[in-house]
Formats: sequence, C-alpha cells, structure tokens
Amino acid sequence: MILVSSCIAGLEVRYNGSHCLVEKIQKLVNENKAITICPEMLGGLSTPREPAEIIGGDGNDVLDGKAKVMNRVGADVTEQFIKGAYAVLEKAKEVSATIVVLKENSPSCGSSMIYNGEFIGKKIAGIGVTAALLKRNGIRVISEEQFFENLP
Ligand code: SF4
Repeated sequence: MILVSSCIAGLEVRYNGSHCLVEKIQKLVNENKAITICPEMLGGLSTPREPAEIIGGDGNDVLDGKAKVMNRVGADVTEQFIKGAYAVLEKAKEVSATIVVLKENSPSCGSSMIYNGEFIGKKIAGIGVTAALLKRNGIRVISEEQFFENLP
C-alpha cells in the first residue's frame, strides 16, 4: 500500500483550505492503491489554519527538541506537528506501507525542502517533521516530484 499526502490527492486540507491536486496521485487513491493522510489534520489542527514553519532547524531538530514549529501569528504548534507525525507513522505500520509520497516544501511533509522559518517564501534544504519520523523508522519517503521521476 502507498500513503500519500491528502492535499496532492485533491483534498482541501492545506492551511488556506486549498489543495494541490496531482491527478495521477488522485487516480491511485480512486483505484484503492493509495490512502490519504494529512499529518497536520491528524495532529488536531483545523482547516483553514495559520501557515506554520519550522524555526531553528528542520524536522529532525524538532523531533530532537532542538527546534520548534511556529505559526505565522506566533503560536507554538510543535506538539500538534509531532502528534500528527506519530499518527502517520502508526498508519504506515498498520497498512504496511511500502512507500509514502509526501508534498514537498511542507513543514510536515517536505522530504528535501522546507521553508526557512521567516515566512518570506524562501525555501531551504531540510525535511519536515512527519517525513523525518517516517525515515527514522525505516519507511521510504519521496516527494510527489520524485514519485513521477521513478515511474516507468
Ligand atoms: Fe498537505 Fe501535508 Fe500540509 Fe496536510 S500537512 S496539507 S498533507 S502538505
């Protein structure tokens, strides 16, 4: 089974209530080959919500207690991000996920790039909280872009 970020399957769960549909991902879900997960929703946040970024590091640093996730109005949402990451890990184990396809650039789902924590739209190399936790547990994580690069 494949787990995929809900927003790339077309679900309107992004911070601003939008999605970022990738039709081929949605097709996998419709064919029951993939299951959607949104770590931020699973962590208890609502949609719409204030956008959040990792301050002082990346997802690995958040898991190690060395960085925080803050939203644009200054609320600390680290706990919700960590809770959501563990909920996705549980789901991945439950369905014996072979691969998890996560939306690039997100503070939860990014697997190689995230925003830099200044809310200025600048991306830096780094990993989101959920992607980091999955990788630590030996689960293969790729972005939606890499998923299509690897298609035959
Ligand atoms: Fe999409 Fe992940 Fe953000 Fe949820 S947490 S909206 S699945 S990028």
